[in-house]
Amino acid sequence: MTPTIFLPRTCWFCLALGTLALRLDRKSKPYLGCAACGAHAFLRTPAALAGVAIVSPTVEQIRAALSTNPAFAMQQQEIFMTFKRELLAAIQPPPESAVTNGATYRDLLANDKRKVV
Ligand SMILES: [Zn+2]
Repeated sequence: MTPTIFLPRTCWFCLALGTLALRLDRKSKPYLGCAACGAHAFLRTPAALAGVAIVSPTVEQIRAALSTNPAFAMQQQEIFMTFKRELLAAIQPPPESAVTNGATYRDLLANDKRKVV
């Protein structure tokens, strides 16, 4: 039986349900990997495990609130859009649009604005 620490949980990065799993790499070092967004977080020191143990239930609560509380969801979406705008202002766009299959980071941000949560 798989220990509960290795069971998939809500992704901290994309908030997809049951897609983030704690795994061990070839050298038996722990990392988090998401099957939905492709995020990988390498936990290089034992101190990094504290968040994995403690934060996951809070992420589940936040995800639940996003789907049951429209005002909360809208507020969080605005925080997310602000975050992405600030990131966009800080990063260097790829030199050629082909790098992102024709979409630039600005295109990706504009597409997100049109999505309904
Ligand atoms: Zn994810």
